[in-house]
Amino acid sequence: MDLDKLIIYRNGSLVPYAESKVGILAHGLNYGTGCFEGIRGYWNAKSDQLYFFRLLEHYERLANSAKLLLMDLPESPERLCARTAELARANGFRCDLYIRPLAYKSAEEIGVRLHNVTHDFTITEVPHKAYFDSTAGLRASVSSWRRIDDNVAPARAKLTGVYVNSALAKTEAVSNGFDEAIMLNAEGHVAEGSAQNIFIVRSGVAYTPPVSDGILEGITRRTIIELCQRELNIEVIERSIDRSELYIADEVFLVGTAVEVAPVIEVDHRPIANGKVGPKATALREIYRKATLGDLVGYRHWLTPTYDSTAAAKIQQAERAAAT
Ligand code: PMP
Repeated sequence: MDLDKLIIYRNGSLVPYAESKVGILAHGLNYGTGCFEGIRGYWNAKSDQLYFFRLLEHYERLANSAKLLLMDLPESPERLCARTAELARANGFRCDLYIRPLAYKSAEEIGVRLHNVTHDFTITEVPHKAYFDSTAGLRASVSSWRRIDDNVAPARAKLTGVYVNSALAKTEAVSNGFDEAIMLNAEGHVAEGSAQNIFIVRSGVAYTPPVSDGILEGITRRTIIELCQRELNIEVIERSIDRSELYIADEVFLVGTAVEVAPVIEVDHRPIANGKVGPKATALREIYRKATLGDLVGYRHWLTPTYDSTAAAKIQQAERAAAT
């Protein structure tokens, strides 16, 4: 990606990325006082459309994260959805995207606190590249790092500083030869992956930790709960999960904006069931994929289109004409 050509949204205007500097003393950089989102845009070549997945929910969660840091977003979540589409159009994106809205304390001053520090807001969009292929299933380990407790700093929000917790766990897992970390919470119950929520399946029932167990309030998690119930007729129970349940589960899978649905085939060197990707994770992967591309009529309300369909058809026509 040529960042020199990238246009971003910053404090109400579209500006070149190259001119968007952050001061060395910026509060958010020094004290981790920022919050962000990770959103996906899916390009559907057949319908010549770019869809943002559950965009409004992401901005609603960002508004909550900002609230925890005593910041306001500059515009309503609805308005920010429109800005996101506007930005994609300004960059002329017609490909899969990763969208990173960020609100951070930008004042260049020393002094750790939340109050009376000015903040900035940006949205950056870049073409998406899968950061690892999880189709064959992941090998995970239970991390020696516990998920940060709500009494220390809120894990339910996406706060920049809190991501040191995820980074420690992920690097430990990868250094030890695993693909991903599974963190336990302060009480020793299963919390989540470094950047994914977790589900297990036992005797046909899916279980996932409740949002009060020190996890990020994941949007994919919410999506998967609904898809399990409505599409696969699988009961989902939100309850605390013990570490040993991972070892005896029929299936374990991680879910998140980046990985979508990632089956886990091994935890702590123990194969999950027969050590192969399970049927429920496989089915969910497929349904999720279709939902993100607008191929499931019942879930189109989760999608925000970028281009109006008449404009999209015109671009397609012009391209076809140019190609012939
Ligand atoms: N947990 C953590 C710690 C994360 O960073 C993420 C990624 N945002 C998730 C879970 C999954 O959340 P979502 O489905 O909203 O991407």
